[in-house]
Amino acid sequence: MGPDFIYAQPVKLFFGEGKFAKLPEILQELGVRRCVIACGKHFAPTAQAMQAADDRIVAVFGAVEQNPQLSGVKETARLAREAGADAVLGVGGGSALDTAKFAAAIALGDGEAEDYYYARKPFPAERLTIIAVPTTAGTGSEVTQVSVVSNGTEKKTINNPVFMPKAAVVDPVLSSTVPPRTTMNTGLDAMAHALEGYWSRNHQPISDLMAIESVRLVLENLEKAYHDGTNMEARANMAFASLLGGLSFALPKTAGSHACSYPLSEDYHLPHGEAVAFTLDSFVRINADERLELLCRRVGLSGTEELAERIAALKELGGLRRRLSDLGDVDLDKLAHDCAVHGLMQNNPIPMDEEKLRAMFEKLA
Ligand SMILES: [Zn+2]
Repeated sequence: MGPDFIYAQPVKLFFGEGKFAKLPEILQELGVRRCVIACGKHFAPTAQAMQAADDRIVAVFGAVEQNPQLSGVKETARLAREAGADAVLGVGGGSALDTAKFAAAIALGDGEAEDYYYARKPFPAERLTIIAVPTTAGTGSEVTQVSVVSNGTEKKTINNPVFMPKAAVVDPVLSSTVPPRTTMNTGLDAMAHALEGYWSRNHQPISDLMAIESVRLVLENLEKAYHDGTNMEARANMAFASLLGGLSFALPKTAGSHACSYPLSEDYHLPHGEAVAFTLDSFVRINADERLELLCRRVGLSGTEELAERIAALKELGGLRRRLSDLGDVDLDKLAHDCAVHGLMQNNPIPMDEEKLRAMFEKLA
């Protein structure tokens, strides 16, 4: 049977060097009149300067943490409500974007943030416009309806159309100061989005095409961006790879490596990209099939084994943790169990139970 699919991509994309400087025109075009910015502390001074210079920036929440907290979501939503905002703009890594997305979705509701977080209430029908400005080349959050937020003890991934940004402004210049290790973590996360979108049980032809190009761009540019963060060509190609990675998993969703990343982040405190990369080469070997061989050949590799080796080499170059012994005391039974029961594991093309996952981790001893 020939191609058979449904495809939609609702986010208006503004991509390229210098696009962020065009934000006033972009806000104008989107009809935004009163906008709140959510960002981390590094960007906060810039956001405050933007507020001073543009009447449409009405408030700044500049304390998004690395693991985005529900308390930050509440504060951003409160600022938006009090300022009568019509939009929330998130600038930063996945944390800032996910905070902005959640705050925009609940700002006009009459419930508490917890009511929506724990699904005690449906999300309000009315919400604020979401504008996503990623500064790392990795999460793809600017084109997905996913928000990952922590309640202080546990991270929860919520997948809901209310989190879909209206627009994304992707400016590679913003990523030029990202340190090498974060560049590596987030770059491998981008490649994982592409690979997992590609081998997801729900993959489809348009997403597949973007996945292949995303993997090719990461293989060609991640090392360059890692060694020289000011190499704007490599940064721009990584920003594009990340965007394509996000688009390639937005509909099919991710699979085994992302399923495993949640227990690895929660119990062993690996940053998201490092946690995803921890099992990515293992899953390349586990999921190796004709389709994956085809992807490898299209990106100029000899086959799946070379892809797994390239991923392992990138992890080593970046100094990422790669073995169980790097994680301290590991409760292998709990780890294998928590990975097996994670919802995204259902998406993996090869069924993975606790026993198989245990065997996979044992090879990483
Ligand atoms: Zn990811």
